[in-house]
Amino acid sequence: MSKSLVELADGRIAATYARYPLMLVKGQGCTVWDDQDRPYTDFVAGIAVCNLGHCNQRLVAALESQATKLWHVSNLFYTGPQAELADWLVDHCFADRVFFANSGAEANEAAIKLARKYFKDRGQPERYEIVSMELSFHGRTMAAMSATGQDKIKKGFDPLLEGFRFVPFNDFEALVNAITPSTCAVMLEPIQGEGGVRCPDPGYLQKVRKLCDDNGCLLIFDEVQTGMGRCGSLFAHQQAQVEPDIMTLAKALGNGLPIGAMLATEQVAEAFGAGSHATTFGGTPLVTSVALEVCKIIEEEKLSQKANELGAYLQSGLRRLQKRHSAITDVRGQGLLVGVELAIDGAAVVNACREKGFLINCIQDKVLRLAPPLVINKEDIDALLQCLDRILEELNT
Ligand SMILES: *Cc1c(COP(=O)(O)O)cnc(C)c1O
Repeated sequence: MSKSLVELADGRIAATYARYPLMLVKGQGCTVWDDQDRPYTDFVAGIAVCNLGHCNQRLVAALESQATKLWHVSNLFYTGPQAELADWLVDHCFADRVFFANSGAEANEAAIKLARKYFKDRGQPERYEIVSMELSFHGRTMAAMSATGQDKIKKGFDPLLEGFRFVPFNDFEALVNAITPSTCAVMLEPIQGEGGVRCPDPGYLQKVRKLCDDNGCLLIFDEVQTGMGRCGSLFAHQQAQVEPDIMTLAKALGNGLPIGAMLATEQVAEAFGAGSHATTFGGTPLVTSVALEVCKIIEEEKLSQKANELGAYLQSGLRRLQKRHSAITDVRGQGLLVGVELAIDGAAVVNACREKGFLINCIQDKVLRLAPPLVINKEDIDALLQCLDRILEELNT
């Protein structure tokens, strides 16, 4: 590893990330290479971002083509790619309108602001509380962090934003009891990502939808991690056959270019009129032309379906490993968002994988998260399973 660059990074970049000792220099498909030209099969995909793998040819072509035309002009003007991307997204889900942002946190900021403003506009200013979930993750900006149900993320930053309540994920009764006349919205990830890849019981999301309807509050799905085909349908909530009023996207939407989006029904989106919310970089032609190509490829190559099939293949392989190794206590997930809960610390497994040429990461200390590009193949999955088998054998579990 280039020592001088690592020293620069460690000495000059805010120390907010504990990095793995690896300097990556290039990627192609599901493989990335370090500065010693050593290849790694990538089961991190930039944290569920590079769903089409690295340097996809069509994306490179879309980027290069737009790069010589127009990068940015601000939202004071119309640009084609932004309009076409919004149209594609609206065509493929419940929503009628899209607000473009630059990250997941920003998309969630927009969702929280919209939910509040919606009720202000309707003459119900007392309705500003949002109920969200324990172990949820919605981002690091002030409102998104305030909505996040993990103390370790909020520690040291109070006073937080007022008006958030938390209930255990997948506990419907707790949610019923948390709704009050002040509730404007329930906000949740259809499958919790950072919280440890936690799936709700069948029927839970439907009950949450009905509860919101019965109480006149909005339902916000944070699909920043679960969206764009990863969980086996374009958006994870589509498999549960429940539609939210607001949905947020980011991670895989640009396959690595920074973009976030907040989508809403016409009725709700009306609360965002001219001047109510904005961001300079939101939906630049450069980024949206690539994101539009991402969307088309996911659809044309049926990558949601592929994620479903390969995810089932990966999970069944992991279940076989679970029978052989007591260190694996649970295998869960949907599509190619898969969690492997361990009885031991995950760091040792992550490091051993890296030494054997596989990138994975660990969340909540004990859950290995496997989120490869959706274009992964069975051979790569088999190779990872074999590698995990050997590592758990060596760790003597
Ligand atoms: C990653 C993530 C976010 C935050 O996205 P950023 O782009 O890092 O701000 C929000 N919600 C969920 C569910 C995420 O996984």
